[in-house]
Amino acid sequence: MDYRVLLYYHYTTIEDPAAFSQAHLAACKEIGLKGRILVATEGINGTVSGTVEQTNAYIAMMEADPLFDGIVFKIDEVEGHAFKKMHVRPRPELVNLGLDEDVNPLELTGRHLSPEDFLAEMQREDTVVLDVRNTYEYDVGHFRGAIRPDVQNFRDTPEWVRENRELFEGKNVLTYCTGGIRCEKFSGWMKREGFGDVGQLHGGVATYGKDEKTKGQLWDGKMYVFDERLTVPINHVEHVIVGRDHFDGTPCERYINCASPDCNKQILASEENEAKHLGGCTMACTTDPRNRYIVRHNLSEEQVAAAIEALKETAK
Ligand SMILES: [Zn+2]
Repeated sequence: MDYRVLLYYHYTTIEDPAAFSQAHLAACKEIGLKGRILVATEGINGTVSGTVEQTNAYIAMMEADPLFDGIVFKIDEVEGHAFKKMHVRPRPELVNLGLDEDVNPLELTGRHLSPEDFLAEMQREDTVVLDVRNTYEYDVGHFRGAIRPDVQNFRDTPEWVRENRELFEGKNVLTYCTGGIRCEKFSGWMKREGFGDVGQLHGGVATYGKDEKTKGQLWDGKMYVFDERLTVPINHVEHVIVGRDHFDGTPCERYINCASPDCNKQILASEENEAKHLGGCTMACTTDPRNRYIVRHNLSEEQVAAAIEALKETAK
């Protein structure tokens, strides 16, 4: 059976996010969708999976609602559901920039650039490209030469940009993110901060990777996505691997979750290194008594002891 993943957002005013979420969840379950949707007074942001029929029903439902007039869906073909459950959650905001005074993208946002225009501007001498995502997203794939803000959380990015003003001042600044929602706010914030006429990749990298003219050029690696696929290809002309194995730094695009349930950190690791470290990102995680890798692989006590001994040996 053919399945699809829908990725979308829409800035609009939703008066009562809690009540809306409840009704929306019931509607999504009725259709048979799975996925994750966030609802705030400033709008909606979601990614859901279902059969072609189910996703079409959802698109029709949303397009029939005047609240979502002009909503755009990015559609990926997949082989099955990309989520296990269906969640619709009310949130104070869709995108948390950690600002005292929030930005309303309906009032202030950067220039929207088509994939073609983004590719052309990206190659201009006076352009700097800023990645407006989390570092773990950047690390498996990004636009060639894009700036990676050195922050743990996306909400710390404005502070980082303020501290590194000189990188952007007097430049043609372009921002990009997965689906475009983070850029709507971030580019608006940059304009408010006085960084000129900031441009943003309209529809995000998800749209760029499907564009017939650009064919995803100048994207290196893969794109991190927030569903069970974890990464998707973008550049259809060449594939340069930029991801690096957490343990030995060799080229790698395979994401795993650390086997310690308390850590659960997402890291890149080869199957071999995952086995060697029993799925743990550090020695503490490897030796966690609740290590899921050990359970999943039915390892005996002797096997676990031998693996830990071998790790200690190599660490010496
Ligand atoms: Zn860990």
